[in-house]
Amino acid sequence: MQSEWACAVFEDTFGKAAELVVEAPGRVNLIGEHTDYSDGFVMPAALPYGVSLAARATDGPSRLYSVARGWAKSFQVAEVEPGSTRGWANYAAGMAWALRQAGMPVDTNAEVVVANDLPIGAGVSSSAAMEVAFGWLWLTLSGFPVDPLQVARIAQTCENQYVGVNCGLMDMAASALGVDGHALLMDIRTMEVQPVPVPDDLVLMLCDTGRRRGLVGSAYNDRRASVERAAATLGVSHLRDVTEEQLEAQAASLNEEDLRRARHVVAESARVHQMAAALRADDRDQMGALMQASHDSLRDLFEVSCEELDAMAEIARAAPGCIGARMTGAGFGGACVALVTEQDVPNYVERVSEAYGQRFPDRESVFLAARASRGAGIGYDFR
Ligand code: ADP
Ligand code: MG
Repeated sequence: MQSEWACAVFEDTFGKAAELVVEAPGRVNLIGEHTDYSDGFVMPAALPYGVSLAARATDGPSRLYSVARGWAKSFQVAEVEPGSTRGWANYAAGMAWALRQAGMPVDTNAEVVVANDLPIGAGVSSSAAMEVAFGWLWLTLSGFPVDPLQVARIAQTCENQYVGVNCGLMDMAASALGVDGHALLMDIRTMEVQPVPVPDDLVLMLCDTGRRRGLVGSAYNDRRASVERAAATLGVSHLRDVTEEQLEAQAASLNEEDLRRARHVVAESARVHQMAAALRADDRDQMGALMQASHDSLRDLFEVSCEELDAMAEIARAAPGCIGARMTGAGFGGACVALVTEQDVPNYVERVSEAYGQRFPDRESVFLAARASRGAGIGYDFR
């Protein structure tokens, strides 16, 4: 991550050295998409890319500068309320507010530089990386202990209630709890996390379509309403409590659209366990089949894919060295994830970007090869 860069920009911007650096990674979800808010199973991995905060306590107010986004309007951490900040400052101020709601009244303001080496709005959860990083920062500066899972939960409150996007817990939990070399099999209901080793010679390849997500908030909230309605009709709190057999037995009680959404959620959650087994057994055919089934279901049943994601998944899957590929993240743009054998990576990127560029000459695709990585923490030089 970009901690040294963040520190250098901090000195240039504020005229003194930073006293604390926090790093929080983005994540890629290997499988288990749109299952988290049904209390289901997911399998993200933290990336070696994310946001780095270089910071210093100040008597206030808090002043934030992002290399990617410029200055935010200053605010007092002890006073922010939903609506009192705008734009990207919401992720920083929202964490201070959410920490206060959770009984941790952080009150130490800071001067902060945000540097990122993670694409923003590309489905790798720069928003969760921001929230987790600022959670760590505010807690540390105010002298509170940092519990990673608690920070993740508070980050979800921030995004739901302060930013206003009804997301689940997965993104924040992956950023906070990542383990080197492992994907994380997460039970969103119990928050039991089982690290599942990714075979050594496989790389997580992020294939960003260059299409940014538009209207994602409303479509997301719409999907969420649909699965909540389905659960209520089936008499359960969440679709997690329904098996494929039970869903089919009661299919007639749901409207056609809610039924399709529910079918996706129930089958996708089951695929997460099948993927864990495939990874442990190093069964690459099965990994590929599961990733394809996931993509097809997101396209046809949950309807959150788009032309670019469908094309990218297809191209990514066909290129030599690919074990499997599918769209990842909330959808409507953003990235695909592929599992690629390491030795094939250089040719792979060339081939896929060329084929994708021919189909979408106006889209700037970006490729990131990554190993599953550790979660958020205080930057190396400051530990
Ligand atoms: P994703 O989480 O998939 O990257 P979101 O739309 O959820 O996409 O979050 C992107 C938003 O997060 C940006 O519009 C911005 O407000 C904020 N953000 C993320 N990274 C940064 C950064 N480095 N600097 C400032 N704001 C950021
Ligand atoms: Mg996000």
